[in-house]
Amino acid sequence: MKYNEIEFDTYFKNYPDANGYFGKYGGSYISDDLKNAMAEITEAYFTICKSGKFISELRRIRKEFQGRPTPVSHLERLSNKLGNVQLYAKREDLNHTGAHKLNHCMGEVLLAKYMGKKKVIAETGAGQHGVAMATAAAYFGMECDIYMGAVDIKKQAPNVARMKILGANVVEVTDGLQTLKEAVDAAFAAYAKDYKNSIYCIGSVVGPHPFPMMVRDFQSVVGIEAREQFVEMTGELPDAVVACVGGGSNAAGMFAGFLNYPVDIYGVEPLGRGTALGDHAASLTYGTEGVMHGFNSIMLKDENGDPAPVYSVASGLDYPSSGPEHAFLHDLGRVKYDVISDDETIDAFFTLSRLEGIIPAIESAHAVAYAMKLAEKMGKGSILINLSGRGDKDMDYIIERYGIR
Ligand SMILES: *Cc1c(COP(=O)(O)O)cnc(C)c1O
Repeated sequence: MKYNEIEFDTYFKNYPDANGYFGKYGGSYISDDLKNAMAEITEAYFTICKSGKFISELRRIRKEFQGRPTPVSHLERLSNKLGNVQLYAKREDLNHTGAHKLNHCMGEVLLAKYMGKKKVIAETGAGQHGVAMATAAAYFGMECDIYMGAVDIKKQAPNVARMKILGANVVEVTDGLQTLKEAVDAAFAAYAKDYKNSIYCIGSVVGPHPFPMMVRDFQSVVGIEAREQFVEMTGELPDAVVACVGGGSNAAGMFAGFLNYPVDIYGVEPLGRGTALGDHAASLTYGTEGVMHGFNSIMLKDENGDPAPVYSVASGLDYPSSGPEHAFLHDLGRVKYDVISDDETIDAFFTLSRLEGIIPAIESAHAVAYAMKLAEKMGKGSILINLSGRGDKDMDYIIERYGIR
């Protein structure tokens, strides 16, 4: 199947299918206990997400609490510096808590409330997903257990403090390497034991069905808003849309607004220090098909076929796979996935800060760097970047490691 064989106007009805597949990717590779739990979430989601009450409550929350709609900004000085292509940014950095993650966390916890759950369970690596979950849990008055590797707890002190101030219970995981992978396993195990009372909320468009679909749907507000705002500002669609891809949630949300339109779409993966295994986290670019964390996708494997060690300057992009929908769009050729290195990212981080007064998250700076390169190649037209988050969390690290450029 190729791009032109897919009917994109019915795409969202057909993908994923009833078993959570986007073509051969996705599905649900989990224990029977967890299968029951996921079936419960899937059924509730399909019922509740069509309820007028749920939809209007989510809309109200987005407007009154999150600060949506977030604006689209014309990056005029950056555009002038690069030539004739006009660059624009969808400002997810202006969401409450500073990134797009709250879009799906508020949706997931509202769903939990409708399901009568008392507790939300999640894992976190760098702590960004944990902070968004703790925020949503505080808003809805839910208990919140965040599983986090002991190594990450030491590294991410400010986010651990934020979660605790917000009332979350940060559960230290001391198995294995004591980082994200072990935290995911521990969170899944805790959830399997207590799924009657609790709901598990994954941090991206990854994991077993229904999460890749549900998180995409909650994030699609980004792409739909951005398309309408862009057309209102310029009278046209953008020629290209660009987003960074870790697990792939901000990209999936942005792309959802444009898949059915004549727009070139680019997903940007982290090349880190280079192309050797262990030096990057560009799973779609360099990986192969495989199953991890309950879903089939394209992943980076070590010599035993297990998830390979990965690296990126951006801890939010540091994951050995991406969501199944991205693997599908990759194979179809509808989205072009490409890479940006740490160095290019740091340059873009300072360039955007200096020329536009916007300090981007280091994850988002990957998308900015790619758009800057693409602008030179295109020569004319327009590019819309998803600025997935703000860079306050990254400033100390960047100054310490790179100095002021
Ligand atoms: C977590 C994070 C990402 C990466 O996650 P995706 O699921 O790939 O979107 C990107 N940008 C920011 C600001 C993040 O916090």
